[in-house]
Amino acid sequence: MSKKAQDDVGDSGPRFSPPLYLQRYEYVQNYLFKTNPPIIKVADFGCAEGRFIRYLKKLPFAEEISAIDLEKQALDECVYKAEPIAWDFMFGRHRPMKLSLFEGSVIESDDRFKDLDAITCIELIEHLHQDVLDLFPKNVFGFMQPRFVIITTPNKEYNVLFPQLKETDFRHWDHKFEWTRKEFQAWCESVITEYPLYSYTLDGVGEPPIDRSALGHCSQIAIFTRQTIEKTSNIASLLINHKYKLFKFYNYPQRSAPAEEKLEFVNWDEVLA
Ligand code: SAH
Repeated sequence: MSKKAQDDVGDSGPRFSPPLYLQRYEYVQNYLFKTNPPIIKVADFGCAEGRFIRYLKKLPFAEEISAIDLEKQALDECVYKAEPIAWDFMFGRHRPMKLSLFEGSVIESDDRFKDLDAITCIELIEHLHQDVLDLFPKNVFGFMQPRFVIITTPNKEYNVLFPQLKETDFRHWDHKFEWTRKEFQAWCESVITEYPLYSYTLDGVGEPPIDRSALGHCSQIAIFTRQTIEKTSNIASLLINHKYKLFKFYNYPQRSAPAEEKLEFVNWDEVLA
């Protein structure tokens, strides 16, 4: 059964416009758009069938985009969102870009993922068993250490607005837990206590009805920002450690610079005379 991000809560309960999963993608994309210096290398962990890839491709300065999932079947579904389309060949990008799909777990340490600008984990952590979740911070914040880590996860407090959910139910059959805002915050605090290079802010998407604003957003979001770069040992970086299995990779064409330059210097007065 698919693990895709759309919550399994069916038709009853609050409806969102745009749909909640699109609000999450737009929020994360907007955040990445605004960063300065811009995002050049970014990885989306738990990419499922790759719907967020289309949003990442819009980042104008991106040169390396990776989407990673544990399940090969999910990566199969990513292919048609990841491959360049006619538009990409016609217009090209400012800079050449590589888009790769990888099979692997977010807790595996792979040297190629060490100097990323951002890691996104959209509705991933609640799919992790406790033993995997325990190892998540060590790899993401301790080993990969990107400039930004953006994590979204359901806000359990909001579930009372879904009449079909009993108190112990989760929004999706594959969720291992769902957290209240306090629980998520406590986890974020534990992360920065262990990895003081990072600070975080909390936010959310999916507004509650006006009379239930105390419940908070339907999806909660944490944005972790690295304050400094920790010096990693050169010895470690000499070891080739490629844990993720490359599933597919695409080279996106660069806009043809010579042709553009020629156009820029055309003397139109002469041409039109
Ligand atoms: N981010 C997607 C959907 C996430 S659903 C979106 O917003 O559209 C969770 C996904 O995480 C599933 O595809 C599941 O296969 C994947 N996953 C579960 N455990 C994982 C792990 N340890 N490492 C990487 N991906 C994992």
